[in-house]
Amino acid sequence: MPLTKYREKRDFEVTPEPKGAASSKRPENELSFVVQKHQASHLHYDFRLEWKGVLLSWAVPKGPSLDPSVKRLAMPVEDHPLEYGGFEGVIPEGEYGGGTVMVWDRGYWVPEVPDVDVALRAGQLKFSLYGAKLHGSWALVRTVIGGSPKAKWLLVKHRDGYASSDDVTVKKPKSAVSRKLLADIAKANGGDVLKAAKGDPPKKRTTA
Ligand code: MN
Repeated sequence: MPLTKYREKRDFEVTPEPKGAASSKRPENELSFVVQKHQASHLHYDFRLEWKGVLLSWAVPKGPSLDPSVKRLAMPVEDHPLEYGGFEGVIPEGEYGGGTVMVWDRGYWVPEVPDVDVALRAGQLKFSLYGAKLHGSWALVRTVIGGSPKAKWLLVKHRDGYASSDDVTVKKPKSAVSRKLLADIAKANGGDVLKAAKGDPPKKRTTA
């Protein structure tokens, strides 16, 4: 039951997050990916790749970097239902992950390995992203080769035409679907606007 952990952590009477169908396979061959910016107790970016009817998920505290020399910590978390990729809104305070969620980027991904399951077990998954913000070749690499599935992973950009020293999380802070900042999403959904705003870029100040 791949979504058991996901469901155990949540009270679907309270949270607006999707419960997820028992089995939801997309008819197309395209594999979706989503990066959700999540201002919970701490800001992080949830990096999710569709695989075998669920979203494999990693929490990336600092978010993705386009700079191949920068390796971003990616903590594996429980599989999420495919419908979760469309979730943007507020998880009630006191619930698991309480806070504001933004669909920061989404699109589809293509494996660059012959066998994704083998690559995941080996802790070396290479793939291309076709998103609104993230493009080109990437890798998720487990820090301890052959380590436990709970071991830390790193999210790394490969060198290609999409590599850049620009900080994409700073330059492109808005939702890929609503164009809203976290504070606007919180406001529209009855969330904690001040808490959400902590994850937004500081407002530009005009000097006198
Ligand atoms: Mn999260």
